Amino acid sequence: MVLAQLGGSISRAIQQMSNATIIDEKALNDCLNEITRALLQSDVQFKLVRDMQTNIKKIVNLDDLAAGHNKRRIIQQAIFNELCKILDPGKSSFTPKKGKPSVVMFVGLQGSGKTTTCTKYAYYYQKKGWKPALVCADTFRAGAFDQLKQNATKAKIPFYGSYMESDPVKIAEEGVERFKKENCDLIIVDTSGRHKQEAALFEEMRQVSEAAKPDLIIFVMDSSIGQAAFDQAQAFKQSVAVGAVIITKMDGHAKGGGALSAVAATKSPVIFIGTGEHMDEFEVFDVKPFVSRLLGMGDWSGFMDKIQEVVPMDQQPELLQKLSEGNFTLRIMYEQFQNLLKMGPIGQVFSMLPGFSAELMPKGHEKESQAKIKRYMTMMDSMTNEELDSSNPKLMNESRMMRIARGAGRPIRDVMEMLEEYKRLAKVWSKMKGLKIPKKGEMSSLSRNMNA
Ligand code: GDP
Repeated sequence: MVLAQLGGSISRAIQQMSNATIIDEKALNDCLNEITRALLQSDVQFKLVRDMQTNIKKIVNLDDLAAGHNKRRIIQQAIFNELCKILDPGKSSFTPKKGKPSVVMFVGLQGSGKTTTCTKYAYYYQKKGWKPALVCADTFRAGAFDQLKQNATKAKIPFYGSYMESDPVKIAEEGVERFKKENCDLIIVDTSGRHKQEAALFEEMRQVSEAAKPDLIIFVMDSSIGQAAFDQAQAFKQSVAVGAVIITKMDGHAKGGGALSAVAATKSPVIFIGTGEHMDEFEVFDVKPFVSRLLGMGDWSGFMDKIQEVVPMDQQPELLQKLSEGNFTLRIMYEQFQNLLKMGPIGQVFSMLPGFSAELMPKGHEKESQAKIKRYMTMMDSMTNEELDSSNPKLMNESRMMRIARGAGRPIRDVMEMLEEYKRLAKVWSKMKGLKIPKKGEMSSLSRNMNA
């Protein structure tokens, strides 16, 4: 079960329970069993799920539910807290300091995406002003050095490796020394992965670790690894001092539940996730926004941060006001399109709202999406003020649509498509009605009034 489905199943289970006329122990148990099933199908480790179920039962007070409090919110909040607890090991990982040489070593099974992730990690910090370098201490896999070389060259990151030397310990030592001399402040060491957990691999890893003396060891895990995630992560942790986890291939049909297991096994935080094969398909991982998106609660903290980052200061209160009024006009849609086009990688703000981004701007089709939005805007330019300010597009009869199409030089079906898109977005927008937008960092009112 992929993560989006997991969120859907959990939400449905909660919805079903809150629809029940009597909330008794049985209704709560049914709901929790449903959630348990969904989590197990997503490869969350059995013990974690069982503990979570026990904790929720302890926290949720049946009397509160029966007394007509917002049942959905109470359960959702309890699940939210429990999932956050699993994903948050309660300590942060080492973060490199600019200008001070740090060594970060990557470990993981072959094919987990380790080499790709090394470059993504280097590239991420390079963009922020660090001076990273890559060392290929993977002498096991033929082609590993070529792959790293190719990635590093593309990102203009210095690299070190050898076609001749077969001792990864020596390469790691030499590479780290060299880049320290060259004043690199983030030296990344890629190590060999094997098909399965082998004693020799772990011994080699320990030796490389002793030679490279890393400040941080990152365990890279493929999100589709399934129920094996816990044991695998634990095996790595027992061999070397894993301090952080990166989960890759979160874009695919992966069952993301392994992420929860990996955190539990390594007691280390997930710091990034990989969301594609490209260098910039790499996201910082934050527990609360992740879980709230998972549960379809909308990522309010991320949303507020993004609004503050990309919407001009003087327009922020107005946008929030419009959101809470829930009255979506074509003019608001026009203004939001303007915002989207202005801020570079399209969809940053609205992709945080459940339901907003996936259809309007599917990932990987940004160019087409931009062209589509521009087309819609050209058509809206041919509309009257009355049409733009109305939240009832029925106002537009066929002859008006034809006029608009002609004015914009587009076929009438494009106008109809644009109005369909408007209706869809209006529906999403209407869910924000009455919403108390939380202040930055305030998570307690996350789910309020989200009548999704
Ligand atoms: P390694 O053996 O652990 O070093 O794995 P590689 O870095 O060679 O990656 C194995 C495959 O996974 C390659 O085809 C990568 O392009 C792909 N890959 C790595 N990370 C991601 C990701 O986040 N999403 C997707 N879709 N593919 C990824």
